[in-house]
Amino acid sequence: MNIHEFQAKQLFAQYGVPVPKGKEIKNARAAEKWAAALDTPVYVVKAQIHAGGRGKAGGVKITKNKEEVPGLATELIGKTLVTHQTGPKGRKVRRLLIEEGAGIDKELYLSLLVDRDTGRPTFIASTEGGMEIEEVAENTPEKVLKEAIDPAVGFQSHNGRNLAFGLGLPTLEPAVVKPFFQMLENLYRLFMEKNAALIEINPLVITTDKQLIALDGKVSFDDNALYKHPAIFKFRDLHEEEPMEIEAGKHNLNYVKLDGNIGCMVNGAGLAMATMDVIKLAGSEPANFLDVGGGATKETVAAGFRILLKDKKVKGIFINIFGGIVRCERIAHGVIDAAKEVGIKLPVVVRLQGTNAEEGRKLLAESGLKVEVATDLWEAAQKIVALCSKKKKA
Ligand code: GDP
Ligand code: MN
Repeated sequence: MNIHEFQAKQLFAQYGVPVPKGKEIKNARAAEKWAAALDTPVYVVKAQIHAGGRGKAGGVKITKNKEEVPGLATELIGKTLVTHQTGPKGRKVRRLLIEEGAGIDKELYLSLLVDRDTGRPTFIASTEGGMEIEEVAENTPEKVLKEAIDPAVGFQSHNGRNLAFGLGLPTLEPAVVKPFFQMLENLYRLFMEKNAALIEINPLVITTDKQLIALDGKVSFDDNALYKHPAIFKFRDLHEEEPMEIEAGKHNLNYVKLDGNIGCMVNGAGLAMATMDVIKLAGSEPANFLDVGGGATKETVAAGFRILLKDKKVKGIFINIFGGIVRCERIAHGVIDAAKEVGIKLPVVVRLQGTNAEEGRKLLAESGLKVEVATDLWEAAQKIVALCSKKKKA
């Protein structure tokens, strides 16, 4: 789960990581009030969306004039921001962060994530802040430092020294070295205690008055640990999530929307991945990843159908079920009932294998529904791809 910058900064503040003084604002009236209360030489008005690249897209406004703050708020609220991370559709701005501006001397980069190679929480730091870290890593890999933390002993002072000296902080600005050590320790504590998956501060700035401040903040959490952190779960913003993925979550379905036109309903994540591969091999593209789980029932199949049909790009449905725990004749009943209930007009290919597959196929064939039945995965994939491309030409 991702959270907004203003929420990340609230967490930083709780953990003693310095952030600019700021507040979440939802309208011009509140902006005016807060600007008066903040009373600072420079105001920064920032669009809150779950995507980076806001600065370049016009989502970060800076002014020295208090009177201008409500106008900037009006300009941003309701606007659709298109950044390199939002995709062409962009994201609608509904919330702002209005904070005091900082005089920037240097911009650094700092993040903490789990490195898949070592399996350890790892700090990534660079003196090249304010830009895309992927670009820095591509063009000047020597400017990206990595420091893995042994989770058995936690953050140690030598980890801090490696990073500080690696960045050249003692020569860059000796006054921030101690605060930097403290910040690393605090971020590590936040990361571990809240089961974060990523903390990223870009830019981490050294101000003209030698303060070290997190000017931006991105934090995401491990969904499987959210039950332990109700206060974090409250940060969830459904506006930032794909509506069909929210719906799928309610039915315990694992659904990820993709860009193709063949809707897939599969039991088991591995089989779902294989199904997507085989659709591509047959010359088309999957519209989604959908794992209905090992214990698929009539209800889950019906919910799956409804979700697939909400995607207007879906031109056909491919159901691929292996009857291991679940029995195929039960799935067949589920498909028949759900198809009647939902009213499916698109081509459907069902491939059943495993326990009671024969019985399941017979039920489907005799159901009177326009459902193609298959036993072989490759044959089934070619069938659905052919049916969908035929429809397109007609
Ligand atoms: P992002 O573009 O979505 O990553 O948003 P950021 O929070 O990183 O803001 C983009 C840029 O705006 C930063 O890299 C800074 O250069 C600039 N910026 C943000 N806050 C301030 C501030 O308080 N003072 C100044 N001078 N620049 C700021
Ligand atoms: Mn940033």
